[in-house]
Order: sequence, then C-alpha cells, then structure tokens
Amino acid sequence: SRFSIGLTGGIGSGKTTVANLFAARGAALIDTDLIAHRLTQPDGLAIPAIRDAFGPQFLTATGALDRARMRSHVFANPAEKSRLEAILHPLIRSETERQAREARGVYAIFVVPLLVESGSWRQRVSRVLVVDCPESLQVERVMQRSGLSEAEVRAIMAAQASRAQRLAAADDVIVNDGDPGRLENEVDRLHAQYVSLSGKSA
Ligand code: ATP
Repeated sequence: SRFSIGLTGGIGSGKTTVANLFAARGAALIDTDLIAHRLTQPDGLAIPAIRDAFGPQFLTATGALDRARMRSHVFANPAEKSRLEAILHPLIRSETERQAREARGVYAIFVVPLLVESGSWRQRVSRVLVVDCPESLQVERVMQRSGLSEAEVRAIMAAQASRAQRLAAADDVIVNDGDPGRLENEVDRLHAQYVSLSGKSA
C-alpha cells in the first residue's frame, strides 16, 4: 500500500498542529483520535457495544460516551481498559483503512497518539514521526486547553510512553517548542523527503 507516516507524540505535544502543516502541503491526513471521537459520539458505531458491555450509566443524556466517567473507570483497572479497547480498536482500524483507501495525497499521515505503545501500528506505517517538545510545555498547553490541574496532566503523561521511549522509536523527529519559523522549515524538509521516498516505494 501507499507510503505512510505514523505521526505520534505525547499529549499536548502538537500532533494536530504539525499534521495540519503536512496536510497543507498535500499529504493525506487520517486522524485516529478524531475517528475514535466520532465512534463514541451519539449514534457513533461503538455506542451500542459500549452500552451492552458497560451499561447505560457510561453514556451521557444525549447518548455519547461519558468520557470522564469511563476515564476514571478504566484508569486503575487494566481489565476494564482492555475490554473497552477490544470494542474500539477494531472499529478505529477499519474506519482508518477506509479513509486511507479514499484519501488523495502523495503519501498518507496517520495521527496515532499511542503509536509507540501499540506494536500493530508500528508495523502498519513506513516511518514513525515523533512530535517532541519539553514536558513543561506539554503541561502548560494541556492545562491551558483543558482546565485540568498540573497533577492531572502529569498523571496522564505518566500513563503514556516516556519522552525517551518515544524518541527511541522515531525514524524522524520534529521539535515543536514554539518557534513557528523553525517548525515550518522542519515540515518543509521532511515533506520533501517523504515525497521522494514515496516515489521510490511506489
Ligand atoms: P493532544 O494529543 O492532547 O490532543 P496534540 O498533540 O494534538 O494534543 P495540539 O492540539 O496540536 O497537540 O496542540 C496542543 C495545544 O498547544 C493547542 O492548543 C495548540 O494550539 C497549541 N500549540 C501546539 N503547537 C503550538 C505552537 N508551535 N505554537 C503555539 N501553540 C501551539
């Protein structure tokens, strides 16, 4: 299949921001986080299975997944987390592949927040691109956006791969520490490389 990039990074690292810069240059963008959100909205494809497996108390009044409740339910409970993932992952995967087949673009960029944590994703993509930034900046951005406390953000980060683990898995790294000019330059450089590599693999 088509040459593809798996784009990942910690919470608040700037995955969406960076992915949009590649899309503006002509890459096909497939955002698995967005797909997961849609699956768990009212009428989302995952809702009936979630209701059957966990009960209606995990849905909001409008019939969406109650994220806050589910998050606290699975946080300290790996078996329940696996049960949720067994519902979501196949649906995410099939919708991802459907979008990948339909998307136009020289190459595809899959945004996968937990790519480093998931062996099957690493096998699916031609290269792994990590969006990296200092942890203090991640904390600052997520607090700004979400209203979570520093301790809550750090707890989420502690449950993800570490910065070092992510960098060890990277074929390419983009530093997103706030200098917009440098970010655009790095995206230009990598995009040119990806266009060239996709020509060779075609
Ligand atoms: P998450 O995984 O938490 O959804 P993400 O990795 O997709 O996050 P973004 O949503 O792209 O990260 O960025 C997080 C926040 O930081 C956003 O509010 C975004 O506007 C801001 N941000 C990201 N990169 C930059 C940047 N280079 N300059 C200014 N703000 C930025």
